[in-house]
Amino acid sequence: MRSMEKDMAIISCPQCAKSISDKHKQCPHCECQVTELSNEQLQQMQKETRIRKQQKFMNHSFLALILFLGGFFCYYFIHPEAESLEWYAYSAAMAVGFVWYIVSRIYLVVLKKKK
Ligand SMILES: [Zn+2]
Repeated sequence: MRSMEKDMAIISCPQCAKSISDKHKQCPHCECQVTELSNEQLQQMQKETRIRKQQKFMNHSFLALILFLGGFFCYYFIHPEAESLEWYAYSAAMAVGFVWYIVSRIYLVVLKKKK
């Protein structure tokens, strides 16, 4: 007995990493020719996609760190009055930078675990 799942597998496009059905000859998102690729090419492309993703999150965590440090230094050196506009701005920059940084680090760890 054949299962339905076997007939319609969902794979991720080697180029844009979006989910597509393996029935597609061409990725509907980026028009990459999925079926015409050899296994070796597929693996190479998946590797490159993963590296691109990692670099993206590295950039994100770097920007987040700058945002956090920027907020922190302004807060530290300018000493804004509590609950003034600047105070809120620097606090928000620190909070957003901190959360953003943590989230991108977590994504990086998750990406590295996926082989
Ligand atoms: Zn694609």
